[in-house]
Amino acid sequence: MSHTTNGFVCAHHHLYSSLVRGMPAPKNRSNSFIDILNNIWWRVDAALDNEMIYWSAMLGATEAMMSGTTCIIDHHESPNCIEGSLTTIADACKVVGVRVNACYGVTDRWQNDQTLRSKVSPLAKMTEAAKRGLAECDRYLSAGGNGMIGVHAAFTCSDETLVAAAELAQKHSVGVHIHVAEASDDYQAGARLESIAKDNWLLVHSVHLDRKLKGRIVHNARSNMNNSVGYAKPTQWPNKILLGTDGIGADMIEEARLAYARLREFDVSAEPSTVWQWLDNGRDLFPEANDDVVTFNYDFSDSPWHAAFTTNMTVTDVEIAGEKVLVNCQPTRIDINEVRAKAHEQALRLYKRLT
Ligand SMILES: [Zn+2]
Repeated sequence: MSHTTNGFVCAHHHLYSSLVRGMPAPKNRSNSFIDILNNIWWRVDAALDNEMIYWSAMLGATEAMMSGTTCIIDHHESPNCIEGSLTTIADACKVVGVRVNACYGVTDRWQNDQTLRSKVSPLAKMTEAAKRGLAECDRYLSAGGNGMIGVHAAFTCSDETLVAAAELAQKHSVGVHIHVAEASDDYQAGARLESIAKDNWLLVHSVHLDRKLKGRIVHNARSNMNNSVGYAKPTQWPNKILLGTDGIGADMIEEARLAYARLREFDVSAEPSTVWQWLDNGRDLFPEANDDVVTFNYDFSDSPWHAAFTTNMTVTDVEIAGEKVLVNCQPTRIDINEVRAKAHEQALRLYKRLT
């Protein structure tokens, strides 16, 4: 038993969400998954500019690193600040010392006349906004960035856009990172993606998926509960399962504890090793995490049974690629107080745009 572990991978994050906690309550009550998207997330992403994206990523990456998460697979959308956004995120992560796999989540929900459509017909034409999103992924990857091709979800994309995303992913020899059947509104995702999904795709959520698709499934237990979309039953699939947070922080041990409690509610015979395997599976996409060292103030941090039930186990030190980026709970590369202050300034700018 050891008080150290390898670095953790958050297999699905939205670093832009770091500024959102504390936002003014939406005027309209949210009674459904689509309401939550309309009232919160699609207002937030439309309000983002480059400064907000930078400091949100910086705060999110810092908090990830302080939790022992040394690698982040991010999914980004900022329809009024698309070009360059992936580089902005990568730059912020680089300052903190955290590795990132970035993508821009393309969607056709923003019409060419700037109006928003909550659901998009499979037969619709690809929008200008989707073309710009694909171009940003192409630009970032062509410039040597580490990433994937992002797609928001099948239900906000035309078939033309889904196929174009799959082709661009093939061109770059990467996978597509896409929300799949997160809620019942996306029930057609399985049928629409079946012929184009590949083994290197990241299928995020898969709560209402009706068939087996090629790819890895990313389970986000807390987010699914928070959005009341139902239990994803990840153990029902033969696919490799990874763990993500869907933007609610990046503390992977915390997420694993919650995923275990939710699994156990579903199957009382389940053991923590199942969920800790999901954590390990994240390292398939970031093998470098195996060289990182995370030190906890607890002697059995590498034991799933211990970690699942020791709720106050704290990360004290983190070493990424041989460099100590956290010592005695303090980041070495950045001033955490400054990051929090700058992120708060940007959060206030964001809230102003939301009122
Ligand atoms: Zn997500």
